[in-house]
Amino acid sequence: MKVRAQIAMVLNLDKCIGCHTCSITCKNVWTNREGVEYAWFNNVETKPGIGYPKDWENQKRWKGGWIRKKNGSIQPRQGSKWRILSKIFANPHLPEIDDFYEPYTFEYEWLQAAPELQAQPTARPRSLLTGEALNKIEWSGNWEDMLGGEFAKRSQDQNFDGVEKEIYGQFEQTFMMYLPRLCEHCLNPACLASCPSGAIYKRAEDGIVLIDQEKCRGWRMCVSGCPYKKIYYNWSTGKSEKCIFCYPRIETGQPTVCSETCVGRIRYLGVVLYDADRIEAAASVEDPQDLYEAQLGVFLDPNDLAVQEAARRDGVPELWLEAATRSPVYKMAVEWRVAFPLHPEYRTLPMVWYVPPLSPIQSAAEAGKMSSRDGMPDVRSLRIPLRYLANLLTAGKEEPIALALERMLAMRAYMRAKSIDGRIDTAIPERVGLTRALV
Ligand code: SF4
Ligand code: SF4
Repeated sequence: MKVRAQIAMVLNLDKCIGCHTCSITCKNVWTNREGVEYAWFNNVETKPGIGYPKDWENQKRWKGGWIRKKNGSIQPRQGSKWRILSKIFANPHLPEIDDFYEPYTFEYEWLQAAPELQAQPTARPRSLLTGEALNKIEWSGNWEDMLGGEFAKRSQDQNFDGVEKEIYGQFEQTFMMYLPRLCEHCLNPACLASCPSGAIYKRAEDGIVLIDQEKCRGWRMCVSGCPYKKIYYNWSTGKSEKCIFCYPRIETGQPTVCSETCVGRIRYLGVVLYDADRIEAAASVEDPQDLYEAQLGVFLDPNDLAVQEAARRDGVPELWLEAATRSPVYKMAVEWRVAFPLHPEYRTLPMVWYVPPLSPIQSAAEAGKMSSRDGMPDVRSLRIPLRYLANLLTAGKEEPIALALERMLAMRAYMRAKSIDGRIDTAIPERVGLTRALV
């Protein structure tokens, strides 16, 4: 056993309101400069959608993540032969600026300079590349959100008919959710394995993955190699950059900027202990649907005295050990099993985990729209299809997601039913169709 400590994050998607405060504050602190105008170390996507950069989940196109070979070993999808060729010829698997978006700002000065008008002046978007006014934004960091706005507007339009009526009339049947994304500070980072210059490293003390700017030669193999597309090339310095998990703040006991400024308070930071000797075996299990369980098997129980002893032997500081014993990340991911890794099938063992959204289920349950199964509302009848969440978080395995949603539904009903003096109001859980677990 080789014990390592990792700073990790859980995001409760139920609480994200898509306000983008996290993205803006992160940008203002870390990428508000020349060369990385288009880069968002933290971005928030509307799902389902093709995301930022466009189509980032399509690994056949970008050659990101790891693949398992027939002999059971794993290698970066881009392969070593291709990496050598890419040093001679141009790397063909890089997203271009149009895949991110055309950087733009707003004409804020117009708000001050406009002459007296009947209506309030509006700050219109202007391209940061050409300086010209943009009449219509064809593509942006969260294009689906804009599309949603357009759909909502048109569905309220009383004058449409025919096919349009059919399309927009179905608007209420659609579903959407927000997915904030940052570098996953993976236990098995594909960016690190792809770098020919040895510039990327994972810090032994806290697992934060960083790029040594002195060593980076701008090959950009990490940009293709990262399956989450969370490495950005700085065109001004000629080096690659990425989220640094706000390590100067972490080192001084402060939360990351995105966590501190999150309006929905959806982000939980915590230390987890893991066994570095188990990583390769976990990342190379045959069936991708087993990868979530395999990653759980890498974590160590911080309250186990043998683990604590091994951690001290391996140099984990007391402060981190103590933090691991009260880690919300460990509780949500391992003890309660309500948080899941994003796309475990990429085999990087990501360390930013997500609690699946419950809100549409809660309201459906209260409206009596969910069928019942074993005294519980059947989460399979919910508006966000279970299959969709499973494809996002457990490589398609539905059972763990269903269990997590049921558990959260029960816990929410319990907390609402409990009066101050501890008595349970049984009418509250019954109202959401929950007759088994609490009463
Ligand atoms: Fe590397 Fe971060 Fe991408 Fe993981 S998510 S491969 S650590 S850049
Ligand atoms: Fe979601 Fe928090 Fe970011 Fe707002 S600040 S978009 S609530 S993660």
